[in-house]
Amino acid sequence: MATTIAHGALMQAAFFLGPNQMELREAPVPVPGPGEVLLRVNACAVCGTDLRILGGGKTRGVYPPRVLGHEIAAHIVSFGEGAEAAVGLPVGQRVVFPPGITCGACRFCVIGMENHCKRREAFGYRYDGGFAEYMVVPAHAARRGILMAIPDTLADAEASLAEPLACVVNGQRKSQVGVGDVVVVAGAGPIGLMHVQMSRLAGARSIIVSEPSTTRREQAMAMGATMALDPTHDEVLDVVRSVTGGDGADVAIAAIGVPGLVHDLLRWVRPGGRVNLFAGYAGSGDATISANLIHYGELIVTGTSACTSEDFRVALNLLASGRFDASALVSHQFPLAQVQEAFDVTRRGEGLRVVVTP
Ligand SMILES: [Zn+2]
Ligand SMILES: [Zn+2]
Repeated sequence: MATTIAHGALMQAAFFLGPNQMELREAPVPVPGPGEVLLRVNACAVCGTDLRILGGGKTRGVYPPRVLGHEIAAHIVSFGEGAEAAVGLPVGQRVVFPPGITCGACRFCVIGMENHCKRREAFGYRYDGGFAEYMVVPAHAARRGILMAIPDTLADAEASLAEPLACVVNGQRKSQVGVGDVVVVAGAGPIGLMHVQMSRLAGARSIIVSEPSTTRREQAMAMGATMALDPTHDEVLDVVRSVTGGDGADVAIAAIGVPGLVHDLLRWVRPGGRVNLFAGYAGSGDATISANLIHYGELIVTGTSACTSEDFRVALNLLASGRFDASALVSHQFPLAQVQEAFDVTRRGEGLRVVVTP
């Protein structure tokens, strides 16, 4: 397929150079080699992980200078030799893809935990990501069929939320939220709000949110929370007990990476209850807990990290169906020239999902 990009054409791309250093530069538009696919980025959302990388809190697997950004909606510009047949989608097709490229052959891929693939590589870490006008999908990723068509009903900015939603789908599976459950969600940032919506879809009877920000508590209520508490004033444990006749919640989800909260979550759930540590913790994430809460309570404590391509497919279909409302989660859109501002707004917690539209 002929490319419409002139040879030697330049593009804008935001390169991560090292801790707290990101620079918008001109760079050559990549030329797709054999098996590769050239994408034009339509939207790329700023993730908490991007902030942690830029801030120097996350370094493993990141190779600067690197274009960050892994929550990407794009369209196909051109194919390298042999890629078109492997991908099976036409030029111009809008696509999303899970950010992790997996091998499909290692033990964890085979047992359905491909997010723990031993050879996992990711866009925005090992390969240049979405805070650029163009990007390339490597041949082995294209061959693995990672590109998924965005249904026409779904806008680019909302489609870029498929990745965080896929992680939330993974967290909901781990938490086994079910019909009639009482769920407590700690933190009502974009991820917490996704857990609120997903818990409602899963049939929870009561969704209690704990969140210090008034604005975010209001957003949580608008998205289906039944109660939004301010942990600086309200005693969450008392409320949970009163809602559950003293038993405790069925599920508690940590959607904010505060190690000191882990002990609280263990106290909020009933015997046999499920606690999911969804958010990542900075540094080593050391937390002090009473192990007896898990022992005597027979609690099920799980973690959630990233997502599988199946989680991604579920998330994309949910977004496309309109059953999950992503539009309310996209609070800001910035052109690529204001990528730094997009990061700053995200860091200050002023918005929900902040999307860069190169
Ligand atoms: Zn992300
Ligand atoms: Zn693997």
